Amino acid sequence: MADDIEWRAVQQTFVYKPELQVLLYTACGLCLRPGPQSWTRHLRQPPHGLGGAPLKRLVELFQTYRLQDPSVVAAPSPRSGGAPPFAVPGLRLLDGFECLACPAGLTRNPQARDLHLSRAHQQKPAQHKKTPLWRACKLQTYFAENRLIRYFVVALKSDHPRLAEDEANQGISYEEEKAATNIVYGFGSHRSAVILWLQRTGIKDCLKGLDKEQIQASFSLFKDADSKPELFLILEVMDKIFSEAHS
Ligand SMILES: [Zn+2]
Ligand SMILES: [Zn+2]
Repeated sequence: MADDIEWRAVQQTFVYKPELQVLLYTACGLCLRPGPQSWTRHLRQPPHGLGGAPLKRLVELFQTYRLQDPSVVAAPSPRSGGAPPFAVPGLRLLDGFECLACPAGLTRNPQARDLHLSRAHQQKPAQHKKTPLWRACKLQTYFAENRLIRYFVVALKSDHPRLAEDEANQGISYEEEKAATNIVYGFGSHRSAVILWLQRTGIKDCLKGLDKEQIQASFSLFKDADSKPELFLILEVMDKIFSEAHS
């Protein structure tokens, strides 16, 4: 009985998307690379902390799915008129930058953005203020491991009120969708994730109910990358380490 409840909770932490042939781990907002080793490694770590029979059962279930090689999973197609596709629900939503001159310049790092503009378009940072060749945007990537990251620009349905109104009649709420992509749920709703260090440190209570923008605001740094290049390099490296560790 208790096993059944736990199993049902575990099953709510991911969705299999047959049209893309990917395993989207909605609990962490990323897709898991195919293969029992990659699944086991990921699921043993916090916040999942799975082991024993539930882990074995989950891996056996995943093995029944047809999964695509991450390098060929296609990004969502643009909407009519070339507008960016809407964000994939359940996948992490990231703040990033988009180059206005070419489709290759997608990044989350202001320094990488400036480097791209200077190398690919011979534009110096000082020129950005007068004629910016980039804009801030929302990015997603199916896979978070460094070598598998392929960003695509997405739009939020909530930024399109008229569309939202049309589809509200069909019972879809854009605010809900945005919130679902963004809010950090209390870990209590995922029994699989209730593990001791989260309880003891109180992290779960601190984060519960906050959205990602609020969390980010609590530790975000000044935006002027030029004044502290070393600091930004350290942050970039840490970001890579965490992405790698959590994929
Ligand atoms: Zn995870
Ligand atoms: Zn460019």
